[in-house]
Amino acid sequence: MPRSDPSASLPPSSAPEQRAGFKFELQRTCPHTGARAGIFHTPHGIVETPRFMPVGTLANVKTLTPAQVKSTGAQMILSNTYHLHLQPGEHIVAGGGGLHKFMGWDGPILTDSGGFQVFSLSEMREISDDGVVFRSPHDGKLINFTPEESIRIQNTLGSDVIMAFDECPPYPATREEVERATQRSYDWLLRCIEAHQNPDTQALFPIVQGGTYLDLRSQAAAQLAELDMVGYAVGGVSVGEPPELIEKIVKATTPLLPKGKPRYLMGVGTYREMAQAIASGIDLFDCVIPTRYARHGAALVQGERWNIKNAQFREDFTPLDETCSCYTCTNFSRAYLGHLIRAKELLGYTLLAIHNVTELVRFTREIREAILAGTFADRFSHWLERSPESKSNGH
Ligand SMILES: [Zn+2]
Repeated sequence: MPRSDPSASLPPSSAPEQRAGFKFELQRTCPHTGARAGIFHTPHGIVETPRFMPVGTLANVKTLTPAQVKSTGAQMILSNTYHLHLQPGEHIVAGGGGLHKFMGWDGPILTDSGGFQVFSLSEMREISDDGVVFRSPHDGKLINFTPEESIRIQNTLGSDVIMAFDECPPYPATREEVERATQRSYDWLLRCIEAHQNPDTQALFPIVQGGTYLDLRSQAAAQLAELDMVGYAVGGVSVGEPPELIEKIVKATTPLLPKGKPRYLMGVGTYREMAQAIASGIDLFDCVIPTRYARHGAALVQGERWNIKNAQFREDFTPLDETCSCYTCTNFSRAYLGHLIRAKELLGYTLLAIHNVTELVRFTREIREAILAGTFADRFSHWLERSPESKSNGH
């Protein structure tokens, strides 16, 4: 693959007139924090921010139909390039009419670049400036993931927001390792921009990396802010570092990103971390937690994590959360949910997933309403302070 010259002028894909389908409307900013409420317009509809996005790794949000996902209040969902490339393959998705039609979701979709998954394959990969070569865990075949290949796959899938292919250093990593990864990520971003075929219908987000080195983080954010992109992401957090570091990283980078563009914090979806990131100016989140917890019989209830199989719920015929208006809470009892999970009935996982996704979407919606009302800093103050004795990150 040809390498782009980082000093070359930007390709035409970054020109605003070629991004007709995208707009970010900033509605209100919090007078006390960096929090903002906005509307992100995409070719498949709007996302009212801040907003939590559930994860649909293999072109489905696990155990939920698209109608059930919609009922949670989720407006945008995430899908995984690496997983879809391996199974069923992007040509099958394209043959089925593209990702939206193939999976029956007509709202906005964001795909990641596959970088995070490829770099997690520590045993099976080889990294160079060109990209990453790894063996498919399915059939052992050698696969070459480059910035161009990641963008080609995402162009073929047809998601509304596509992510730059970058190097996500592990935690912990030395300063030298992180510096090298951050520089490489920038070189790869320029190649992604050049390879991107559909700037009218797909917005490419660059990703701020820099590990836990705050000066590298702010340098990267400032460098990316100079490129006129549709939106920006903060990545490489929630990879094993302590939660208080996530807050520091987000605080050090987010205010440096352009104000009039949506900002997405990758892989974060706990109450406290979302509230704190919103206070720094983050608009979008994704996390597998609500559906993964559901498959383990855990319910998210107003900031707490409950094991629904606990004996205390066995004869508890009240709703999971009487303040929640989701399908699960309006129709079923804690006793019934506990029974289904104990019996390993599939409906139990679906009902818990409906509630858990609704709960995290509701949390970000309530924050949005508070920002619009000017009451965010006051109403959510308990989530914005970190109690020193607490090791919990909000669940
Ligand atoms: Zn509920």
